[in-house]
Amino acid sequence: MADRYYEVLLIAELILAPVVFLLLLFITAPYGRFDRKGWGPVISSRAAWMIMESPSLVLPVLLALGAGVNRVELVFLLIWLCHYFHRAAVYPFRISSPRKPFSVLIMSWGFIFNIINSYVNFYYLFYLAPHRDLSWLNDIRFIAGGLLFAGGYLINKKSDSLLRKLRADGRTGYFIPEGGLYRWISAPNYLGEMIEWGGWALLVWSLPGTAFFLFTIANLLPRALKIHKWYGETFASYPEERKAIVPFFF
Ligand code: NDP
Repeated sequence: MADRYYEVLLIAELILAPVVFLLLLFITAPYGRFDRKGWGPVISSRAAWMIMESPSLVLPVLLALGAGVNRVELVFLLIWLCHYFHRAAVYPFRISSPRKPFSVLIMSWGFIFNIINSYVNFYYLFYLAPHRDLSWLNDIRFIAGGLLFAGGYLINKKSDSLLRKLRADGRTGYFIPEGGLYRWISAPNYLGEMIEWGGWALLVWSLPGTAFFLFTIANLLPRALKIHKWYGETFASYPEERKAIVPFFF
């Protein structure tokens, strides 16, 4: 039965990625700078991030406890938790706008997506994938994927921290970010996130990992393009040479 759930949810994630991509090109998710009325009840953004991301912290640990994992699988779990411990338990306490309204609808969608995504990733790794021995940690896919994951993680955290500093002195509102990859692009935090999950797909070498990578692009690329357009329309002095998400290209 659990295998059947896995198959259905994995297919759902693979189908949802292009659908979400197309939808987000036309409809902008109503949170942050694009928050607007008409999307139902709201909740504080700190609570929203904690609730929305919590399944990705809890579910993989429960699956690991249920399955019993070997050392390589434990490494996979620790890499994943590195990201999600920060996202669910640290990031919400560091955002500069913790009380800003966040759509309950978007939070609920994120919550459901995180259940599906963490379930398919770890059900596959712990219950279905052939068990990998320690030699996997020397495999080029693990090493290259691990480097990409670490690089993406650093880009994402550094970029989010530069955004936070823009409001460090108690200022509110939006300012032109400078430094780091902001020299070249408008949404380096999203670029870092995409690189991270590309690295994950490579280091676990699985279809669910690839599905998550594709979904991350589907979710963040349209928003990066809109953020870039928003900066250009909002700030007359916005650097013209800055691109949206890929330095020097677009
Ligand atoms: P944003 O870049 O929109 O905002 C991040 C924070 O910085 C918010 O607190 C925002 O405030 C503030 N901020 C943004 N731009 C400015 C500015 N110009 N001046 C001052 N403050 C600014 O990112 P998201 O909120 O969309 O995402 C947050 C994190 O979550 C990112 O690291 C992202 O990669 C990750 N994420 C991952 C997803 C995935 O699919 N894996 C999906 C969505 C996010 P305010 O809230 O007031 O706008």
